[in-house]
Amino acid sequence: MAYTKNEIINMLATVADDEVEKLRQQAYSVMLENCGSNVYLRGLIEFSNICTNNCNYCGIRKSNHKVHRYQLNRENILQSAIMSMKSGFGSVVLQSGQRQDAEFVGFVCSIVREIKQITKSEMLPNGVGITLSVGEQSEETYRKFFDAGAHRYLLRIESSNPELYAKIHPGEMKFENRLHCLEVLKKIGYQIGTGVMIGLPGQTLEDLANDILFFKSIDADMIGMGPFIPHKDTPMNEEKFPWDKNRNYRLGLNMIAATRLVLEDVNIASTTSLQAIAEGGREHGLMFGANVIMPQQTCQEVRNEYLLYDGKPFLNETIDELASGVKQKVEALGRKIAFNTFGDPLHFFNRGKK
Ligand code: SF4
Repeated sequence: MAYTKNEIINMLATVADDEVEKLRQQAYSVMLENCGSNVYLRGLIEFSNICTNNCNYCGIRKSNHKVHRYQLNRENILQSAIMSMKSGFGSVVLQSGQRQDAEFVGFVCSIVREIKQITKSEMLPNGVGITLSVGEQSEETYRKFFDAGAHRYLLRIESSNPELYAKIHPGEMKFENRLHCLEVLKKIGYQIGTGVMIGLPGQTLEDLANDILFFKSIDADMIGMGPFIPHKDTPMNEEKFPWDKNRNYRLGLNMIAATRLVLEDVNIASTTSLQAIAEGGREHGLMFGANVIMPQQTCQEVRNEYLLYDGKPFLNETIDELASGVKQKVEALGRKIAFNTFGDPLHFFNRGKK
């Protein structure tokens, strides 16, 4: 069904409990109709917090010298991938700060290849599915990653409003380049994921409605978005930019519902930033139409050093505890986890058909 921008703005503006519940139910039934009730799990491996960028909102930005920088070694990453596979997750996400040097690119290619090899099993003859989230790269690099075996890529636009984008990023980070990267990723054949921050200072409901229309216009397959939560050691800290926790949380859920209603067959992640604001937030997102969760699978020793925002949850549990915890919570909602499958977004296969 095609929605106008005003209709989307009205969805996002919903605050009354009964109206929110109506929106939630509509989104949930569109999810069931288009994607079924399965929840897909992706083991999240944050393998390095070294970043050459300085996004104004991000706790691991280059200029934050309070952060202890790390890059996990090959053994550590492979171990996390194997544990994800043994937990039946079917896919992993390899995420890091942005680096474009040859050493980094070579490392990512070799680790992708090794993970594909080492996680082959009867259930997953091609190994686990691999999503990369390592920022803006050249076309040549994206092709190398793809040829190594990554088949999904997450690159959030953060805001589809170029002026707002420019306010939250330093001058050298160009909106046009982010768009170009998304186009190149699609051309290469990746399943592409993008997303935005919700509740940014100066962001209007119209901006957010435009974000959803933007996802549609670029034919995104996967959406990962969450409430803006300030980090104390950034230019967008809470002192300078007081934020309304409840509003951002509510908007986060409304955005999931509205995105489901407009985009129908995409995969939508329920992100940990919802959980950072409210206990059970990640499960709540699933009830508003999300169908993907990315349980933390980074080794415990460094998890505390990958803080894009303050109050990140799941820092102290073991990888096993996190895997079994998420299974229990999803099943308690009456949703089924799809184990040992890539869980590719149906939209990717439906592109151009609707
Ligand atoms: S958001 Fe990503 S690219 Fe920007 S500073 Fe943080 S890790 Fe680096």
